[in-house]
Amino acid sequence: MYKCNRCFDREAKIIVTDEGQERLCNRCFNDMVSEEIGVMLETMPEEIVVNDFSGTRRDFTVQQRLYPNGIFLEAVEDLEYGYQYSVHGELDCNQTELFHKLVNKVKLNVSKRYTKAGEFRNGQKYLSIIDDEVGGRIDYDDSNPSVPMVVVDGRPYTWEQLGEMIMRFEGFQFKMNFFDQTDEVE
Ligand SMILES: [Zn+2]
Repeated sequence: MYKCNRCFDREAKIIVTDEGQERLCNRCFNDMVSEEIGVMLETMPEEIVVNDFSGTRRDFTVQQRLYPNGIFLEAVEDLEYGYQYSVHGELDCNQTELFHKLVNKVKLNVSKRYTKAGEFRNGQKYLSIIDDEVGGRIDYDDSNPSVPMVVVDGRPYTWEQLGEMIMRFEGFQFKMNFFDQTDEVE
Protein backbone atom coordinates (compact mmCIF):
# COMPACT_ATOMS: atom_id res chain seq x y z
CA MET A 1 0.00 0.00 0.00
CA TYR A 2 1.18 3.49 -0.86
CA LYS A 3 0.50 6.28 1.60
CA CYS A 4 -0.95 9.54 0.43
CA ASN A 5 1.69 12.14 -0.49
CA ARG A 6 -0.22 14.91 1.28
CA CYS A 7 -1.63 13.57 4.54
CA PHE A 8 0.95 10.74 4.84
CA ASP A 9 -1.76 8.79 6.57
CA ARG A 10 -4.48 7.28 4.39
CA GLU A 11 -3.99 4.88 1.53
CA ALA A 12 -3.22 6.53 -1.80
CA LYS A 13 -5.78 5.51 -4.36
CA ILE A 14 -5.41 8.12 -7.07
CA ILE A 15 -2.35 9.07 -9.06
CA VAL A 16 -2.31 12.68 -10.21
CA THR A 17 0.11 13.29 -13.08
CA ASP A 18 -0.10 17.05 -13.26
CA GLU A 19 3.48 18.44 -13.13
CA GLY A 20 5.13 15.31 -11.81
CA GLN A 21 3.40 12.47 -10.11
CA GLU A 22 1.49 12.53 -6.87
CA ARG A 23 -0.28 9.69 -5.11
CA LEU A 24 -3.30 10.87 -3.18
CA CYS A 25 -5.92 9.41 -0.91
CA ASN A 26 -9.52 10.02 -1.86
CA ARG A 27 -10.01 12.83 0.67
CA CYS A 28 -6.90 14.80 -0.30
CA PHE A 29 -7.84 14.39 -3.96
CA ASN A 30 -11.29 15.84 -3.27
CA ASP A 31 -9.75 18.71 -1.27
CA MET A 32 -7.40 19.49 -4.13
CA VAL A 33 -10.21 19.58 -6.71
CA SER A 34 -12.41 21.50 -4.30
CA GLU A 35 -9.78 24.26 -4.03
CA GLU A 36 -9.38 24.38 -7.78
CA ILE A 37 -13.02 24.64 -8.72
CA GLY A 38 -14.56 26.16 -5.61
CA VAL A 39 -17.14 23.44 -4.98
CA MET A 40 -17.43 21.78 -1.57
CA LEU A 41 -18.48 18.23 -0.98
CA GLU A 42 -21.11 17.91 1.71
CA THR A 43 -20.83 15.46 4.55
CA MET A 44 -22.92 12.36 3.97
CA PRO A 45 -23.24 8.90 5.47
CA GLU A 46 -20.22 6.70 4.82
CA GLU A 47 -22.21 3.51 4.81
CA ILE A 48 -25.41 2.14 3.33
CA VAL A 49 -26.98 -1.03 4.71
CA VAL A 50 -29.78 -2.72 2.80
CA ASN A 51 -31.36 -6.14 2.56
CA ASP A 52 -31.18 -7.96 -0.75
CA PHE A 53 -33.83 -10.04 -2.58
CA SER A 54 -33.42 -12.86 -0.05
CA GLY A 55 -33.45 -10.63 3.03
CA THR A 56 -29.68 -10.91 3.44
CA ARG A 57 -27.97 -7.83 4.87
CA ARG A 58 -25.60 -6.10 2.45
CA ASP A 59 -23.14 -3.45 3.68
CA PHE A 60 -21.81 -0.78 1.34
CA THR A 61 -19.10 1.83 1.78
CA VAL A 62 -19.91 5.15 0.16
CA GLN A 63 -17.17 7.05 -1.61
CA GLN A 64 -17.51 10.63 -2.82
CA ARG A 65 -15.31 11.94 -5.57
CA LEU A 66 -15.16 15.43 -6.93
CA TYR A 67 -14.11 16.03 -10.52
CA PRO A 68 -14.07 19.22 -12.54
CA ASN A 69 -16.99 17.78 -14.55
CA GLY A 70 -19.17 16.65 -11.68
CA ILE A 71 -19.68 14.70 -8.49
CA PHE A 72 -19.40 10.96 -8.48
CA LEU A 73 -20.80 8.82 -5.66
CA GLU A 74 -20.05 5.16 -5.42
CA ALA A 75 -21.44 2.45 -3.15
CA VAL A 76 -19.16 -0.58 -2.98
CA GLU A 77 -20.19 -3.66 -1.09
CA ASP A 78 -17.72 -4.70 1.60
CA LEU A 79 -16.81 -7.96 -0.04
CA GLU A 80 -14.84 -9.11 -3.02
CA TYR A 81 -16.99 -9.44 -6.14
CA GLY A 82 -20.01 -7.94 -4.45
CA TYR A 83 -22.51 -5.36 -5.60
CA GLN A 84 -21.24 -1.98 -6.73
CA TYR A 85 -23.27 1.03 -7.90
CA SER A 86 -22.59 4.64 -8.68
CA VAL A 87 -24.29 7.86 -9.66
CA HIS A 88 -23.07 11.07 -11.19
CA GLY A 89 -24.33 14.59 -10.56
CA GLU A 90 -23.51 18.06 -11.87
CA LEU A 91 -21.22 20.25 -9.74
CA ASP A 92 -24.16 22.39 -8.61
CA CYS A 93 -26.49 19.47 -7.93
CA ASN A 94 -28.24 18.91 -4.63
CA GLN A 95 -25.81 16.49 -2.99
CA THR A 96 -28.36 15.16 -0.53
CA GLU A 97 -30.61 14.26 -3.43
CA LEU A 98 -27.67 12.68 -5.22
CA PHE A 99 -27.00 10.53 -2.17
CA HIS A 100 -30.67 9.47 -2.11
CA LYS A 101 -30.44 8.63 -5.77
CA LEU A 102 -27.52 6.33 -4.93
CA VAL A 103 -29.43 4.70 -2.06
CA ASN A 104 -32.45 4.14 -4.29
CA LYS A 105 -30.31 2.68 -7.03
CA VAL A 106 -28.75 0.25 -4.56
CA LYS A 107 -32.13 -0.73 -3.09
CA LEU A 108 -33.77 -1.22 -6.45
CA ASN A 109 -30.98 -3.33 -7.87
CA VAL A 110 -30.35 -5.59 -4.89
CA SER A 111 -34.06 -6.41 -4.78
CA LYS A 112 -33.86 -8.00 -8.23
CA ARG A 113 -32.88 -11.60 -8.61
CA TYR A 114 -31.72 -13.19 -11.86
CA THR A 115 -30.28 -16.56 -10.94
CA LYS A 116 -31.05 -19.48 -8.69
CA ALA A 117 -29.30 -22.63 -7.60
CA GLY A 118 -31.06 -25.95 -7.95
CA GLU A 119 -30.33 -29.61 -7.53
CA PHE A 120 -30.99 -32.51 -9.89
CA ARG A 121 -32.50 -35.72 -8.52
CA ASN A 122 -29.07 -37.31 -8.50
CA GLY A 123 -27.88 -34.59 -6.14
CA GLN A 124 -25.87 -32.71 -8.74
CA LYS A 125 -26.16 -28.97 -8.29
CA TYR A 126 -26.93 -26.56 -11.09
CA LEU A 127 -27.34 -22.84 -11.60
CA SER A 128 -30.03 -21.29 -13.73
CA ILE A 129 -31.41 -18.01 -14.94
CA ILE A 130 -34.88 -17.49 -13.49
CA ASP A 131 -36.59 -15.63 -16.33
CA ASP A 132 -35.28 -14.71 -19.72
CA GLU A 133 -32.83 -12.00 -18.74
CA VAL A 134 -29.71 -11.60 -16.69
CA GLY A 135 -27.87 -8.47 -15.59
CA GLY A 136 -24.91 -7.55 -13.46
CA ARG A 137 -21.41 -6.22 -13.70
CA ILE A 138 -18.41 -7.31 -15.70
CA ASP A 139 -15.39 -7.82 -13.49
CA TYR A 140 -11.88 -9.17 -13.78
CA ASP A 141 -11.07 -12.80 -13.12
CA ASP A 142 -7.64 -13.07 -11.45
CA SER A 143 -7.49 -16.80 -11.97
CA ASN A 144 -8.32 -16.58 -15.65
CA PRO A 145 -7.42 -13.20 -17.20
CA SER A 146 -8.47 -14.21 -20.71
CA VAL A 147 -12.18 -14.18 -19.86
CA PRO A 148 -14.27 -11.87 -17.68
CA MET A 149 -15.85 -12.63 -14.35
CA VAL A 150 -19.45 -11.54 -14.07
CA VAL A 151 -21.10 -10.43 -10.85
CA VAL A 152 -24.79 -11.29 -10.82
CA ASP A 153 -27.05 -11.14 -7.77
CA GLY A 154 -24.08 -9.84 -5.76
CA ARG A 155 -21.94 -12.91 -6.28
CA PRO A 156 -19.30 -13.88 -8.83
CA TYR A 157 -19.88 -16.28 -11.69
CA THR A 158 -17.09 -17.49 -13.92
CA TRP A 159 -17.55 -17.07 -17.65
CA GLU A 160 -18.02 -20.82 -17.85
CA GLN A 161 -20.76 -20.80 -15.23
CA LEU A 162 -22.54 -18.08 -17.15
CA GLY A 163 -22.19 -20.24 -20.26
CA GLU A 164 -23.77 -23.19 -18.47
CA MET A 165 -26.67 -21.04 -17.35
CA ILE A 166 -27.47 -19.78 -20.82
CA MET A 167 -27.29 -23.20 -22.44
CA ARG A 168 -30.96 -23.79 -21.84
CA PHE A 169 -31.61 -20.94 -24.28
CA GLU A 170 -29.99 -22.81 -27.14
CA GLY A 171 -31.63 -21.76 -30.39
CA PHE A 172 -32.88 -18.48 -28.92
CA GLN A 173 -31.79 -15.08 -30.18
CA PHE A 174 -30.10 -12.69 -27.79
CA LYS A 175 -28.88 -9.13 -27.51
CA MET A 176 -26.25 -7.69 -25.17
CA ASN A 177 -26.39 -4.07 -24.04
CA PHE A 178 -23.72 -2.38 -21.96
CA PHE A 179 -24.32 0.55 -19.66
CA ASP A 180 -21.88 2.97 -18.10
CA GLN A 181 -21.64 2.36 -14.34
CA THR A 182 -23.47 5.58 -13.49
CA ASP A 183 -26.32 4.90 -15.93
CA GLU A 184 -29.62 3.32 -15.01
CA VAL A 185 -29.94 -0.11 -16.55
CA GLU A 186 -33.26 -0.23 -18.34
ZN1 LIG B 1 -4.38 12.12 1.96
